Amino acid sequence: MSQPFPLVDQLKSLENLQELDLKIDSLKKYENALPAGLKTVDDSLLKLRQSLDAKKQQMEEIEKAHKQARSALDLNQDRLVRSNSKLEQVHNAQEFQAATKEIEQLKKLSSGLEEQDQKFLQELESLKKEVELITQEVEKIQTERESQASVVLGQVHQYKTDIDSLLAERAQFCSQVDQKILVQYDRVRGARGGIGIVPAVAGRCKGCNMMVPAQLYNEVQRALTLHSCPSCHRLLFVPLTVPLVAKD
Ligand SMILES: [Zn+2]
Repeated sequence: MSQPFPLVDQLKSLENLQELDLKIDSLKKYENALPAGLKTVDDSLLKLRQSLDAKKQQMEEIEKAHKQARSALDLNQDRLVRSNSKLEQVHNAQEFQAATKEIEQLKKLSSGLEEQDQKFLQELESLKKEVELITQEVEKIQTERESQASVVLGQVHQYKTDIDSLLAERAQFCSQVDQKILVQYDRVRGARGGIGIVPAVAGRCKGCNMMVPAQLYNEVQRALTLHSCPSCHRLLFVPLTVPLVAKD
């Protein structure tokens, strides 16, 4: 395959590509980080909803127990009424004693049940307050989440638009570079922290900061054939203007 563009021009295109790719990489990083904030909110919402369900279930159980205590109390009151009328019809001291004892026991049972009834009512009251508070919190976070989600959606959209326009620009530079060189650039970029081509300045590779052998440096300077750093394998070019400083 013949080279449609002189190597020196292709290197210039690759330099531009590298700049675009770094921008695209960082935009993608920001874009991906956005939904993570929502995830945190969702996690706390989930926890609140779970505790709300647990409290509601607890309330149901107490309500059930409360109902049972209530009907036991009613039953006991009926028995107490019967026992009292029995007391009015006693014929001797023995019957009187038995009836009085029965009444005493029933009264004791009733007071125990009444105590239980009060305890259940208090528990229900405090659970009801807790449920109300958690429900308010859930609603508040839910509203915040919705507005945050719409902001995030807008930001994601903006990032996508920006990335798309950079990708379009990228495609233009790609069309000016030999396919084989592009593949090499992409491979090195993938393996070397997103940087596939770096300037060599004053005999030194700016990617890894190692000295490039003098002969190789001369060839890189001539830009007639493609060379890469023997140490970090990044493609090399000698900038004609002020070099961009590569991060590693
Ligand atoms: Zn290097």
